[in-house]
Amino acid sequence: MVAPKFRRILLKLSGEALMGDDAYGINTPMLNSIVAEIKGVADLGVEVGVVIGGGNIFRGMAGVATGMDRATADYMGMLATVMNGMALSDAMRQAGLSARVQSALNVDQVVEPYIRGKAIRYLEEGKVVIFAAGTGNPFFTTDTAAALRGAEIGAEIVLKATKVDGIYTTDPKKDAAATRFACISFDEVIHRNLAVMDATAFALCRDQKLPINVFSIFKPGALLRVVMGEDEGTLVHV
Ligand code: UDP
Repeated sequence: MVAPKFRRILLKLSGEALMGDDAYGINTPMLNSIVAEIKGVADLGVEVGVVIGGGNIFRGMAGVATGMDRATADYMGMLATVMNGMALSDAMRQAGLSARVQSALNVDQVVEPYIRGKAIRYLEEGKVVIFAAGTGNPFFTTDTAAALRGAEIGAEIVLKATKVDGIYTTDPKKDAAATRFACISFDEVIHRNLAVMDATAFALCRDQKLPINVFSIFKPGALLRVVMGEDEGTLVHV
């Protein structure tokens, strides 16, 4: 059997991924199918860290649009990611996958605080570690948390799960002639002004020489194919 290409990965899941076709919140069939995809790679012995977003529940900028103070709204967004993390870990428990949630904001009665060494130990023990509350700081995003935690835990790659199956020359929803890049360098992404992750997250991955693979979480088996090193989505390399 072919061995997985990566030993330790950091998967960034947006809150929207958990929403499925719903307008808000967590869609249970969608949640379970994402867990099944993650289990497929964890069962191969791949160590999986997950950074979970919160956009299906609350986004800071949505609060700002109603007149809310930005930092307050961002803290609410981070708390939304804690709820998603709890839902994800419970769905993993039901699927027979051992998981731990670590939060960058202290909610000790609910989930553990983020402790890097402990997170790494859990990964070594084969547990999935779900990093909640983003970076713990307002004015950042969970994409940046993914780059940060990915670098901290020594992940070999950040896997950015999106709705689109990779990075395209132009928006594939608007342009039928758009073509997908199988791989592209960080410099080329900047040169072409393509949107991969937000600028802070992208810069951190580039500085740390941490490759990013953008792929669709809605495509069955895509996560596994990325982990096996097959052509899936778009690989952003140094
Ligand atoms: N957030 C934050 N700091 C962080 C991560 C997230 O303030 O380090 C807040 C921000 O308001 C954001 C919300 O949490 O809108 C949810 O995260 P994000 O929008 O990244 O979730 P996703 O789009 O991935 O679902």
